[in-house]
Amino acid sequence: MRTIQHFIDGKHSDGTSGRHGSVTNPATGEVTGRVPLASESEVDTAVSSAAKAFETWGTASLAKRTQVMFNYRELVNAHRDEIAELITAEHGKVHSDALGEVARGLEIVELACGIPQLLKGETSTQVSTRVDVESIRQPVGVVAGITPFNFPAMVPMWMFPVALACGNAFVLKPSEKDPSATLRLVELAHQAGVPDGVLNVVHGDKTAVDRLLEHPDVEAVSFVGSTPIAKHVHDTAGAHGKRVQALGGAKNHMLVLPDADLDQAADAAVSAAYGSAGERCMAVSVVVAVDPIGDELVGKIADRARALTIGPGDDPASEMGPLITAEHRDRVASYVPKAREQGAEVVVDGTGLVVDGHEDGFFTGVSLVDKVTPEMDVYADEIFGPVLAVVRAESYEEALGLINRSRWGNGTALFTRDGGAARRFQLEVKAGMVGVNVPIPVPVGYHSFGGWKDSLFGDHHIYGNDGVHFYTRGKVITTRWPDPSDGGVDLGFPSNS
Ligand code: NAD
Repeated sequence: MRTIQHFIDGKHSDGTSGRHGSVTNPATGEVTGRVPLASESEVDTAVSSAAKAFETWGTASLAKRTQVMFNYRELVNAHRDEIAELITAEHGKVHSDALGEVARGLEIVELACGIPQLLKGETSTQVSTRVDVESIRQPVGVVAGITPFNFPAMVPMWMFPVALACGNAFVLKPSEKDPSATLRLVELAHQAGVPDGVLNVVHGDKTAVDRLLEHPDVEAVSFVGSTPIAKHVHDTAGAHGKRVQALGGAKNHMLVLPDADLDQAADAAVSAAYGSAGERCMAVSVVVAVDPIGDELVGKIADRARALTIGPGDDPASEMGPLITAEHRDRVASYVPKAREQGAEVVVDGTGLVVDGHEDGFFTGVSLVDKVTPEMDVYADEIFGPVLAVVRAESYEEALGLINRSRWGNGTALFTRDGGAARRFQLEVKAGMVGVNVPIPVPVGYHSFGGWKDSLFGDHHIYGNDGVHFYTRGKVITTRWPDPSDGGVDLGFPSNS
């Protein structure tokens, strides 16, 4: 069994806390690794290493930081397959999906390669006689990143490439469930020329996270994970004077209008609901079918759902892999009988699935539940698994009202051929990311990612311009180079002339 190590100050280290977590291959149920769970003092060591490294990295030239990012881009690109294999071995998602995750993370490294352009300041000349004003942005210092299990490569890459390119030092606390891909990405960054201490990994649980949230030398915290923990992170880090962006959970609705191409809508619903076994924060978990297309759409989704191939992620024939743990699988599966008891119609029940040769893996099949209403648990909770709920609505207005009353507002999508309806929807819907005939509207790297309501706590979305703003502080410099004729005491408030 492998021990997955911390990476602090440019060196691997075993934990000294005496506490460990188990890393499991979800396709087999076999425990494959041990991950140390850091103590508070191990977190302190990582933060002080980052604080020391920041003293030089924070003033390293833009040319140097950019060069390191370009080197890193090449290295991640060259190691795509290896990283994807590590993801599949610990998360379970299929190899092609894992490769897609690496590609979307690389997009942010590519964004960071353009940091000289992104950090350009603004100047105004002669705002007053012989007075110029310049706005610049400077790194904040030591930044902490805390990431979820479902994207062990992409989500860390949403954070540290931008933070480092802006001149910060970083302490990353990956998910303890699948930490190897994250650690490998950090090793590659070191190989690319990121100096010792600038990018550290401490593995751990609540003890490590809470220490990062309270540590006086951590200036900013980026978090991605479930809503209750996002709120805890936001409130605790905020109470300790840090800037914080905490992205939480989701329940993403896909609204299908009667004029939509129903085959394309069904393809999109199945891909977005069951891809990565529904363990995506941008997964479609609710389809809202506007009358009279409900029966036809549900039939098309059911046909496609029944045809999916479920198996281990390293088998090229598999379209969907297992869930992350047995407990999570059982929790996800429990929503299907509960929905039936609460009056919904279970059209496809995948909960009894057994994958031959992988009886101990954490598999469940895909489920489709129709005629769901908002009070049912299958609608009200974030399930984070391959269970798709269908709600019937009589009109666009009823469907929009349902989406806007949801406690979450991460992503949403509309399927239609009507440009006017699409325009209305994009202005009226209360969610941070909107797709028009696009089921998973994850913004490209040069826009920013973030939800509304309980899907994000804090003011900044992640990556893109918001990422650069989050990881830098603004400063405005007003300069006068006096002429010999200037002078004289004046106690009045400075005004421009
Ligand atoms: P999680 O909230 O359980 O864990 C996220 C991180 O917080 C992990 O590093 C974990 O170690 C840490 N953590 C867990 N419990 C903690 C506690 N009590 N105190 C302090 N830290 C704690 O989330 P997860 O199960 O790893 O990931 C799935 C969740 O993440 C889903 O809710 C999903 O919607 C969400 N997610 C959101 C986005 C987004 O962009 N909004 C993206 C990916 C995942």
